Amino acid sequence: MMEKQKVENHRSSLKNSLNDVKLYIDGSFVEADSKDTFLNIDPFTSEPLNTVAKGDERDIDKAVTAAKKAFQIWGKEKQKERLKYVYKIGELIEARVEEIALMESLDTGLPIKQTKKQVERAAQNFRFYADMVKTHLYGEAYQVDDEFINYTVRKPVGVAGLITPWNAPFMLETWKIAPALATGNTVVLKPAEWSPLTANLLAEIIDEAGLPKGVFNVVHGYGETAGAALVRHPDVQIISFTGETTTGSEIMKNGADTLKRFSMELGGKSPIIVFEDADLDRALDAAVWGVFSFNGERCTANSRLYVHERIADLFLTKLKERVKNIVVGDPLDDRTEVGPLITKEHYDRVMNYIQLAEDEGCELFWGDVPEPFSDRNFVPPTLLLQAKNEMRVVQEEIFGPVMAVLTFQTEEEVVEMANDVKYGLAAYVWTNNIKRGHKIAQMMESGMVWLNSQNVRDLRIPFGGSKYSGIGREGGHYAFDFYTETQIIHVAVGNHRIPQFGKNSGG
Ligand code: NAD
Repeated sequence: MMEKQKVENHRSSLKNSLNDVKLYIDGSFVEADSKDTFLNIDPFTSEPLNTVAKGDERDIDKAVTAAKKAFQIWGKEKQKERLKYVYKIGELIEARVEEIALMESLDTGLPIKQTKKQVERAAQNFRFYADMVKTHLYGEAYQVDDEFINYTVRKPVGVAGLITPWNAPFMLETWKIAPALATGNTVVLKPAEWSPLTANLLAEIIDEAGLPKGVFNVVHGYGETAGAALVRHPDVQIISFTGETTTGSEIMKNGADTLKRFSMELGGKSPIIVFEDADLDRALDAAVWGVFSFNGERCTANSRLYVHERIADLFLTKLKERVKNIVVGDPLDDRTEVGPLITKEHYDRVMNYIQLAEDEGCELFWGDVPEPFSDRNFVPPTLLLQAKNEMRVVQEEIFGPVMAVLTFQTEEEVVEMANDVKYGLAAYVWTNNIKRGHKIAQMMESGMVWLNSQNVRDLRIPFGGSKYSGIGREGGHYAFDFYTETQIIHVAVGNHRIPQFGKNSGG
């Protein structure tokens, strides 16, 4: 009771502290040109939290114009000076981790313990990329036949359009902003309309860090209007997008006329394969965490479990026990493991998939949602038992706390099933047989594989998917391929022969 009261107090003081969200353009917080706003809804209560300025094409144009102008200075700024700002942003985030994490949980329904880790990671992104630019942003040089030196330099591209989703908003935004700024680009961010609060905090932080006007801009608004205008704008050179596969494809079409460079981090339907020789307790921990953390609203969620027939009974008995014990509750309560889904609309979508699973012949098993929350956006942690690979619930991304469970007998069979989806983001393989582990890992048609491990990534290592899960890699020095232009300089150091045109009079 005491704890509950504490959480309630926390919620009401957070809500009271909220101002309406404005756009951040050319160093000022402003209303949308149209003066339009939209409501930001609390995932826990489905009541309005505050209003958000609804940017459109005109606001995008203002932000891009400011970013283009700022690029003339920021892009030529001495690296050392530029990086001071980047480090400063990281420090300011670090100083406000608690506050940002609480806002993120309030706005998204993600459990507070999990958002805290994400915000810490967000701060690291800035420090990491400031360091990385110093150590890894280099060109190449070749001496050719004593006559030439050819070398390359890395230059910022210009105005970067960054479009982000609602499922881990703050962390995913910083993941793009940090390398974009550190390499000398200017930025227009279009955050997801369902989770605007921490993007607003980020604008405040960047303002406080003292970045020159126009270097960083935020335009809130809907995807089809603000997002599409950013993609179509002729003065935006690159678009880094994270979101649904179908949106990614639409964006690529809209950006084609202005020849945009794209980075695409898209949807997933990642398998976890548990062989009979795996460390079952650890595999169980990983399977449960991998799909039920972040409310299952996670691109790399292991939403398909393939367990070897010989251990299936034992593994499933233990899995059900764990699912029953998952703590579903208030996202601001640090005992909560699974919170409410982001909106009623998304809740309905996930529940429709659960209904579809039943219609397709699955047996359902679910955990508990405490009584006071049963009419809200809470989806109980759910297993879709007796699933078959061809079912829609096994093929399509559900993006909630739902895992399809299948069994297998042979390596060939499980590899075929694991690869037989259109997505290719991540795969998880559990076996204590070292040869088998590496072999199966390399047979996965996915950008990333975790072998006997669960979703840990050093910031130096790239991140990204194959097939319908994405194009390109973010993270590490791979981000530089996207955020910089490689210019090639050919220098003659001797008097090499130049073809003599027009010297033969009369031919
Ligand atoms: P979404 O595609 O609906 O929206 C993402 C962003 O795109 C939002 O800001 C939205 O306003 C904008 N948008 C929508 N239509 C647009 C258009 N026509 N032009 C420009 N912008 C447009 O995705 P979502 O529902 O916010 O996020 C969930 C999805 O993101 C899931 O599919 C998930 O797997 C994926 N995701 C992928 C990764 C990854 O790294 N691969 C990470 C997180 C989330």
